[in-house]
Amino acid sequence: MTTTDAATGSESLDPADWSGLRTLGHRMIDDMFDHLQTLRDRPVWQPMPDTLRGELRQSLPRLPRTPEAVYETFQRLVQPYATGNLHPRFMGWVHGGGNPVGMLAELLAGGLNANLGGRDHAPIEVERQVIAWAAEMLGFPTDASGVLVTGTSIANLIGVLVARSAKLGPKVRSEGAGGDRLVAYTSAAAHGCMPRAMEMAGLGRDALRMIPCDADGRMRLDLLAQHLDADRAAGAQPFLLIGTAGTVDTGAIDDLSAIADVAARQGLWFHVDGAFGAVAALSPKLRPRLAGIELADSVAFDFHKWAQVPYDAGCIVVRDQARQLETFGAEAAYLKRETRGLAAGGVWPCDLGPDLSRGFRALKVWMTLSVYGADRIGAIAEQTCDLATILAARVDREPALQRLAPVALNIVCFRYVAANGDLDRLNADIVADLQEAGIAAPSTTMVGGVLAIRAAIVNHRTNVEDIAILVDAVLAAGRKRVT
Ligand SMILES: *Cc1c(COP(=O)(O)O)cnc(C)c1O
Repeated sequence: MTTTDAATGSESLDPADWSGLRTLGHRMIDDMFDHLQTLRDRPVWQPMPDTLRGELRQSLPRLPRTPEAVYETFQRLVQPYATGNLHPRFMGWVHGGGNPVGMLAELLAGGLNANLGGRDHAPIEVERQVIAWAAEMLGFPTDASGVLVTGTSIANLIGVLVARSAKLGPKVRSEGAGGDRLVAYTSAAAHGCMPRAMEMAGLGRDALRMIPCDADGRMRLDLLAQHLDADRAAGAQPFLLIGTAGTVDTGAIDDLSAIADVAARQGLWFHVDGAFGAVAALSPKLRPRLAGIELADSVAFDFHKWAQVPYDAGCIVVRDQARQLETFGAEAAYLKRETRGLAAGGVWPCDLGPDLSRGFRALKVWMTLSVYGADRIGAIAEQTCDLATILAARVDREPALQRLAPVALNIVCFRYVAANGDLDRLNADIVADLQEAGIAAPSTTMVGGVLAIRAAIVNHRTNVEDIAILVDAVLAAGRKRVT
């Protein structure tokens, strides 16, 4: 497989004969297009058999194998047993469906093997463009700052860290938060990565007040005010108020305008977790529900969920770049900036987040938005909300089903009801039955103290028939288990 230089005897990893690898590469692309074109013919998901798991476990391969043989192993052991989120009836958690243009972009990005930590090159310009588009989508000023990261978990952590240094000043980088009792506020429906971000920021999860929600899953602002007063009276320092645009359980959106107002009056950093919900800003119909997001100091969201970009592609946007630089600006001598040559270019992505070496995630975002257009992505978000409305209406019509939460966006929580027995157990079993049969893959969550079947419609491939198949399968599985 390798090239030997006749003059020096040195070996590279490039093939001596490119034609074989080229042929294999073309076959891989054809095979993957076939895979995408025939998704509906296959189960949504199937468990990986233990024998195959065993086959995958090998000691470090010391000797070469042909790429054809390794590809055959991939096709047999890996491809059939992936997550399933490409499939139109994958409705679990909040998983994006990806898209074929994004897939090709991954190939191109892999080919260039660019490092987007810094320096002066076109791939960084592509990322800067993507951040500017994100700012435009959110209604932020066009000179807003930001960086692409793995996902919203890390983007939220960056939000917490920037808010922390905005409160304590850059000295927090040398001295730590020390004796300052910083306190943050978010809703009880916030994602689990929010308390984790507080842990990782060294502030402690107990310093995050999880304010109870109203019946629509929105943070109660009267209780927020009470907590703020009580904390100030106790000598703590409120510094950060986090709104959620699309809660993970039910898709609820906080009253972001009102929260922005509280943050402004109380001198708090206003961060929004818009992991999937922020993309609703691309739909003229959905956008009004996010009113106030444009007032945030920072917003975390994912391109890999509702925007259908292949994993992974999270994003943090910060209104004021000075605050982000103050938190992460890199000063090491080996990262010194020049005014000319490859080390030029001013602010580098490594100044805006914890990563130094970074891949070319931006390309798949840039190509997805460029090829489909932002309006189309917004229309897909709208389509999934319409499907959720159809699902909710069907649930409401079925005597054996009960809806458990209002439908704010694209998530429907419901359960199968029977006269007696443990309904939580029954509904968990129904979900596992559907997943194992490969018919559909909803997930579960707890709503109002009971276990819900949770269908998050995120995938651009999902249609009305898929909704009918899901409900019919839930009813059939429920009947089978109850009788
Ligand atoms: C998915 C999600 C997250 C976490 O995002 P990752 O990309 O998985 O890290 C955070 N908040 C909400 C509301 C989410 O839906």
